[in-house]
Formats: sequence, C-alpha cells, structure tokens
Amino acid sequence: MAPRQRQSDLQVVWFKRDLRVEDHRALAGAAARGPVLPLYIAEPDYWRQPDASGRQWSFAAESLSELRGALAGLGQPLVIRAGDAVQVLAGIDAALGMAALWSHQETGNAWTYARDRKVEAWCRGRGIPWHQPRQGGVVRRLGSRDGWARNWDRFMAEPPIPPPAALAPLSGLTPGALPEAADLGLAGDPCPERQRGGRAAGRERLTSFLDHRGQRYRRAMSSPTSAFETCSRLSPHLAWGTLSIREVAQATRARQRAMKAAPSGHQAGREAWRGALSSFSGRLHWHCHFMQKLEDQPSLESEPLHSAYVGLRPEEPDRARLEAWSRGETGLPFVDACMRALRATGWLNFRMRAMLMAVASYHLWLDWRAPGLHLARVFTDYEPGIHWPQVQMQSGTTGINTVRIYNPVKQGLDQDPEGRFTRRWLPELRDLPDAHLHHPWTWEESGSLLDKAYPALIVDHLAAAKAARQKVWALRGSAAYRAEATRIQARHGSRRSGIPRTGRRRKAAADKRQLALEV
Ligand SMILES: Cc1cc2nc3c(=O)[nH]c(=O)nc-3n(C[C@H](O)[C@H](O)[C@H](O)COP(=O)(O)OP(=O)(O)OC[C@H]3O[C@@H](n4cnc5c(N)ncnc54)[C@H](O)[C@@H]3O)c2cc1C
Repeated sequence: MAPRQRQSDLQVVWFKRDLRVEDHRALAGAAARGPVLPLYIAEPDYWRQPDASGRQWSFAAESLSELRGALAGLGQPLVIRAGDAVQVLAGIDAALGMAALWSHQETGNAWTYARDRKVEAWCRGRGIPWHQPRQGGVVRRLGSRDGWARNWDRFMAEPPIPPPAALAPLSGLTPGALPEAADLGLAGDPCPERQRGGRAAGRERLTSFLDHRGQRYRRAMSSPTSAFETCSRLSPHLAWGTLSIREVAQATRARQRAMKAAPSGHQAGREAWRGALSSFSGRLHWHCHFMQKLEDQPSLESEPLHSAYVGLRPEEPDRARLEAWSRGETGLPFVDACMRALRATGWLNFRMRAMLMAVASYHLWLDWRAPGLHLARVFTDYEPGIHWPQVQMQSGTTGINTVRIYNPVKQGLDQDPEGRFTRRWLPELRDLPDAHLHHPWTWEESGSLLDKAYPALIVDHLAAAKAARQKVWALRGSAAYRAEATRIQARHGSRRSGIPRTGRRRKAAADKRQLALEV
C-alpha cells in the first residue's frame, strides 16, 4: 500500500538492542525528519522465552536508565511502555499519530523475528513507513558471502553518527516506569558478580582494554585465571548496544595507528600490543560473521545446520545429566568450576564456553538445544546470532568445522595448573592435594570426598569421548555428507578478504574439516 498522507509528523524511534544515543542511525534519521518520540517496549512475552533471564534484564534496565538520562539531556526523555509491541505502537498512533517508525535491524531469536513480522504487517496496514538501518556488519537479504569482509571494512570506516543536537520535548506523555524483573514474569536470577549495564561502564571497559588491560590479550585470553581481566569484556555492551561495534572498531584502529606512529622505545610491549590488537580486531569481524549466519538462516536456532545430525543425539535430554552439568556438579572439577563461575558472573572466556558445550555434547551426549538454552540464560551477553552458530559449532553439527572434543582434565591442567580458579569456585576441594585437583578420583583418600562433599564422576569421560568420536566420525564419510557440507560452506563459510577459497587452499581447508581433534 502506498503510504497515505498523515496528519502528524511524529517520528517514533523504537530502541531495541541499541541502547545509546551515539552512532545511532535510527535516532539521527528520525530527528532530521520531525519531532522524536524515543520508545522502549518492555515485552513480557519476550522475557518469558526460555533463552531470556533476569540477569539480562538487569543489565538492560541499568542501560535503559542511563539512556533515559542521555535522552533527557537532549530534551526528550525515553518513554517506556510494557506490553505487546503492536498494541503499544497502535496506542501511540491512536493518541498522537505516527508519521514513521524507526529502529535498527535486529538479528534476534525466532520470537523477535515473528514479532517484527507482525509489526511490519501492522505498519503496512496503517501506511506507516518503518525505517530499519543496520547498525553493524550484518547484511539483510545477503545474496552471497563473496565480498562480505570488504563490506564490513567499509561500514566500520564510515564516520560514527553524532547524536542529534537537541530533541523537541513532547507534551502530554507520561514517561512510564522501568518495570521490575518480576513485572515481566522473570524469576529471581542471582548473579552477584554480573557486569554493570550502561554506556559509562562500556566506555570504561573499552578505554581500559585499549589503554592497558589488553596488552596480554593474545596470551592470556584462553585461561580463566587471566581472561576475566585481560579480555575486553565488551560483549554485553555490544549485545545491548550501549556501544556501537563501529566505535569499538574505530577506537581499535586509532590505537593501532598511534602505536605505529610512536617512535620505537616509546611503546612498552609493542610486539605484544601488535598481536593483541590484531587478534581483537579479528574477533570484531567474527561478531558480525557469526550473526550473519543466523540472519541468513534463522532455523539455526532450532535445527542442525547439517541434516546428517538430525536425531544423532536423543532430542529429549537425559534430565539428570543436564541438571548436573547446569549446576556445575558433573564431578569434573574444571568443568564444574567454569559453570559455577559463569553462573555467578554471567561471563566466561571463549575457550571455556567451548569446553562446556563440548562436554555437554560429546561426553554427556546431550542434544545441543537444551544446554544451549541454559548457556543463553546464564550469559549476560546473550547474542542469538553469535550464540546459536557457536553452540552448533562446538557440538559438531555444522558439518564444516573441525570437531573439537575437549579433554576436561587436560584443559584444567593446562589452563589452571595451580588450581587457583578451580579452588575459588569449588571451595569444597580446597584441601585436595594439587596433584589430584583436576582428577580427584585418583586421590587415595577420595572416598572421604566423592559423593559426600563433591560429586563423583557422572560419566567415564575418556570412554564417553571415544564413543562420541566414533559416532560422529561414522556420519562424515559419505559423498552425500560432503556435498551438503560444501553447500553449507558456500553459504556460510568465511572468505578471506571476500575471495572464495580455490585450489590448494580449498583442499587444505576441506582436509581440516574432516579432523576430529582431542584438545
Ligand atoms: C558456546 C558458545 C556460545 C557463545 N555465545 C555468545 C553470546 O551469546 N554472545 C557473545 O557475545 N558471544 C558469545 N560467544 C563468543 C565468545 O565466547 C564471547 O564473545 C567472548 O567470550 C566475550 O568476551 P569479550 O567481550 O571479553 O571478548 P573479546 O575476546 O574481548 O572479543 C571482543 C568481541 O568480539 C566478539 N567475539 C569474540 N569472540 C568471538 C567468537 N568466538 N565468535 C563471535 N564473536 C566473538 C564479541 O563481540 C566480543 O565482545 C560464545 C562462544 C561459545 C563457544
């Protein structure tokens, strides 16, 4: 339907996962057209989804409260309404008239995708244009992955968009209260060491990372003894948009340039910084690279990417195993310490996230969906577009990635050799001698500990890993399997600098994909 002429020139800016006024294309675009009503809709149905949690809402609420202040500073504070998005928008349209709706594109879960389709239908029915600029490297309706990385570089190099100079105050509008978690139907979710939301906290994490915390990033990111301090910890800020990925990419580039320009000898640890910033910058690409997968194929949240894995593991998970894993009570100390740290902080480094998922998938032989939902809830930084492709990758169901079966005892010995991290989160193992910490069943006095203060092993992890490897391996040989894997690679695989793999490089990559590694 052609947009009909509307009486009002009111521009509604719907804040979603972009809780800032800086580098906000939707806000800037709306402000250039007319008076702006900045809106956040707290949707109880969203917060009732199995991947949502109280810790995520607490982070969002802190960020919203800061956003409200920033918008008030511009002249028109944030308006908050609770309810169904279409009903809230229809109410505003009925009361004030709406000339246009603005929001950033969202690569969300199946629920937000369905909600956006309803909003789209409502807008179309009312003849209201809905402008949806993108806020990162994800491209909607992408035809081909070729050239994607170049496109990312171009987008990140564009100047960030300044906030509007001022917003005209609107009359006759109550600002609306920020709902409590319980108002949204959320259960209590204690997370005593959760990161604080809001842009100020995000800016502090960015500045301190680029100024000093990041120097040992490359070497220290893999161990949970150092990663909490050495990784950027920007993930919840990127997930909730208190920082834009472009401003993070540009701050990183500026730091790289300044380091290059500094006379040698004036930059302590230049080599370490060079490596750190290059690795970090690569991960900012990955952020969007993974999200692009879910954008292109929303079924990734619920169906294995490679069809050979449909039904490989029982769809109805073994509840006792799932519970033990989720609570950090598997009897594998390093796994349990990681899970308990995650529950208490809402964050874990990449390697340990991958190990937790691999243990659930291979050693405990659980279908990836239920453990994936548990991890989504305990991550403050839950980002569906990164999360579900990563969950599938670590469970070996993509068909295009190396199968990594982490040995949880070896990981403990490698990443926490002195046991500081493990003992912090498992105080019941405080007195266990160092030599037995990561495999307490080898201790001659383990009878006084196991199944008393600390659980005995719930599976023989070595035998379970071997059985899993054989089952996964058995699927990978057929020509049909490989043909499908090639199609998946063409659709979702990364292209270096946008150039598809050819010849020897393609063969080397294909050989690598066939490997099942024990790490
Ligand atoms: C099973 C599993 C689930 C995950 N789920 C999420 C999730 O829901 N949300 C999320 O943000 N990350 C997720 N990750 C990716 C990664 O573990 C986190 O991004 C990272 O640990 C966040 O910490 P940081 O901000 O200090 O990261 P840094 O190492 O400082 O990296 C900076 C940013 O780069 C991006 N990034 C880093 N590593 C990756 C990666 N491997 N893939 C994609 N982007 C990356 C993130 O946006 C991150 O904030 C998951 C990883 C696994 C194995």
